[in-house]
Amino acid sequence: MKMPVIAAVLGMALLPSLALGQNRAGEKTSEKVRAVRFGKLWDGKGKIWSNAIVIIDGGRVREVTTDAKRIPSAAEVVDLSKYYGLPGLIDVHTHMTMYTDETPPTDTGQRVPMLKQIPANPPAVEVFLARKGALRTLEAGVTTVRDLGADQYMDIAMRDLINRGEMIGPRMFVCGYGLYITNTPYRPGINPPAGGIADGVPEVLRVVRQQIAAGADVIKLYASTGTDDDTTGFETYSYDEIKAAVDAAHQFGKKIAIHSYGPDGARDSVRAGTDSLEHATDMDDATIAEMAKRGTFYVPTIDHNRYYLDNAEKIGYTPGFQPKTKAFIQRNVETARKAHKAGVKFAMGSDAIYTMFGENTRELAWFVKAGMTPDEALKTATTNAAELLGKSGELGAVAPGYFADLVAVDGDPTSDINVAINKVQWVMKAGAVVSDKTKN
Ligand SMILES: [Zn+2]
Repeated sequence: MKMPVIAAVLGMALLPSLALGQNRAGEKTSEKVRAVRFGKLWDGKGKIWSNAIVIIDGGRVREVTTDAKRIPSAAEVVDLSKYYGLPGLIDVHTHMTMYTDETPPTDTGQRVPMLKQIPANPPAVEVFLARKGALRTLEAGVTTVRDLGADQYMDIAMRDLINRGEMIGPRMFVCGYGLYITNTPYRPGINPPAGGIADGVPEVLRVVRQQIAAGADVIKLYASTGTDDDTTGFETYSYDEIKAAVDAAHQFGKKIAIHSYGPDGARDSVRAGTDSLEHATDMDDATIAEMAKRGTFYVPTIDHNRYYLDNAEKIGYTPGFQPKTKAFIQRNVETARKAHKAGVKFAMGSDAIYTMFGENTRELAWFVKAGMTPDEALKTATTNAAELLGKSGELGAVAPGYFADLVAVDGDPTSDINVAINKVQWVMKAGAVVSDKTKN
């Protein structure tokens, strides 16, 4: 716990950008006092304001008001009264470091499938490329992400570069390596890959502790098969292993996200006390009831399979997976519908990877399809997501003391969720404008 704090303090002291001001999270922020006017503002606190004025100081919201006399005389006024304001959106399931370019040709003129580019790129190349996905994510109105799985702590590097102001991107909460069971055959003379592999309770404890030592904000565990064009959902960990991971994370004050495509891993993860359950499809009524009772967050990530279908060739999947993936999407939506009806809390996660960045919020349309009102869907990407991050007092709302993360959309997102998905015109993160299409 001590090491990352010391590193952060040293990093701050050496940074020339300190003059721009640091907020409590060590992020570079703008020191300017600004007043942003919105025609309407959905504030994440249950109120819709007309003619709202958001006064911003040092990267944080100082005040929300309708009284123009409250605007300090030195403030720069940003007039977005044509638009509808929202809190900066939060995507709780990304793979920011696994961004790929649009299959650039190699020396031979051949295009490399995106699936093969990820492991082929050295970490420095991967993080450098990831800045494009980070920008696209911001342009979609997403100012915070929870990143759930990266190799070689590229996520930690990227999080820290963004916090230092050296890279432009959403605020990141990261997990380092996700934990998974041994899944490679024995090969003489080759050491098993390190990283997230953990079999049995002692190894699970070691790998959880390794991620925390490396500076992870959250723990991720894969409790079932299923990824990319593989939609199987066989449980991979025992209940005891899952429970050990949950308890080890909680012991250090960290939350845990557990991946399960199928119902068995979901059931054991919920019983073990996971904070969020990712993807899970075909969950039985008892598991859903248990989630509602415990307040377990469900992050269905329905839209990523739509992305895989749309981009199958570029990614490099073997044809033939499509019928299974289409059927999985339908079951995923049905499970989401049941869970929503039962009162389970949802958070929006895209599972964005490859070139999916920028499409992060398309998940919200699936939520509405599964029975949510647009207002409920907006909560999954704001207040609910902030609660899942343990940041309810700082993120997911526009209110005094919160980060000045603001989004302006063209239209009314409370009557049509597509406005929040497709009509983002302007984005501010911690008081700095990171995307502006209002002049186009
Ligand atoms: Zn994922």
